[in-house]
Amino acid sequence: MKKYNFNAGPSILPREVIEATANACLDFNGSGLSLMEISHRAKDFQPVVDEAVALFKELLEIPEGYAVIFLGGGASLQFCQVPYNFLEKKAAYLNTGVWAKKAIKEAKLFGEVVEVASSADSNYTFIPKDYVIPADADYFHITTNNTIYGTEIRKELDSPVPMIADMSSDIFSRPVDVSKYNCIYGGAQKNLSMAGVTFVIVKEDALGKVSRQIPTMLDYRTHVDKGSMFNTPPVVPIYCALQNLKWIKANGGVTAMDKRANERAAILYDEIDRNKLFRGTVQTEDRSVMNICFVMNDEYKDLEAEFMAFATQKGMVGVKGHRSVGGFRASCYNAMSVEGVKALVETMQEFEKAH
Ligand SMILES: *Cc1c(COP(=O)(O)O)cnc(C)c1O
Repeated sequence: MKKYNFNAGPSILPREVIEATANACLDFNGSGLSLMEISHRAKDFQPVVDEAVALFKELLEIPEGYAVIFLGGGASLQFCQVPYNFLEKKAAYLNTGVWAKKAIKEAKLFGEVVEVASSADSNYTFIPKDYVIPADADYFHITTNNTIYGTEIRKELDSPVPMIADMSSDIFSRPVDVSKYNCIYGGAQKNLSMAGVTFVIVKEDALGKVSRQIPTMLDYRTHVDKGSMFNTPPVVPIYCALQNLKWIKANGGVTAMDKRANERAAILYDEIDRNKLFRGTVQTEDRSVMNICFVMNDEYKDLEAEFMAFATQKGMVGVKGHRSVGGFRASCYNAMSVEGVKALVETMQEFEKAH
């Protein structure tokens, strides 16, 4: 039976991307060696990094003066690396969920943190709108897509200070005005590649402004200067990212990804709103097009486990909601087809008919 992968992360990747990566693991560029066995400094591998950086810049229309680097440590390490490099006195953070909260916790180790607004009291079911960003903050940090709760900031915000964003789960799903940001980062395993690499887009002249000493490995400058080759980078995940960037380009770039994401989300949210068994969990205008969260309506609560089993039997993988929200979550990253979403909708309709 055909399986549809709605996992939140690590998550779905285009089949071609997985196959190209698997083939390179067996034989890299006809060298008779595996991608896993070659030096990251081999002359064949440097073009992989160079091409990945070039495609990052092309697809996101990154302006001059920005560098793209590939690091280890996941988005979670960026929660401390960002303030290490950018927080001199004060930073502003928008608290839209667990990931934002973790970023705030780390930033507090480096200076004053102003939490400009929070939707914690409503279990993060909306994106706060009315708040003041202190004009003397070094930066304003946001989490553009809240993977766990299914809320998203999809329109660029206005900020009196440069922004920094965790875009782990919506990078390459839409055009981004990179010029508004000093830094954009994310783990790869949601919408870019397999797990193991972290991307960082950084404005070069925003570096070197803090007075503290930064350990070599945590200084963005180190990796910018060495083109992600200061130490051994995660070679296979970078190769996989390159394959996916090529796939995105071949499929129309971020504008097409945006269109597809909106199309998928509309189909699924329409069904959630129509189906008597289900309801969405977040405020309508803040609904994420990447992670679509829903629960059973109160009068049908006891059918939850039964629906999970039914959906699994129909080939739907990974639709269980995060434990802090409950219910269901269908993550619809770039590689998810409209057909996959329609299959989930049919599953919901069949289940409704049976009840
Ligand atoms: C998954 C996720 C993270 C954590 O990423 P790691 O690479 O596992 O550290 C951080 N932020 C957001 C928005 C995420 O979705």
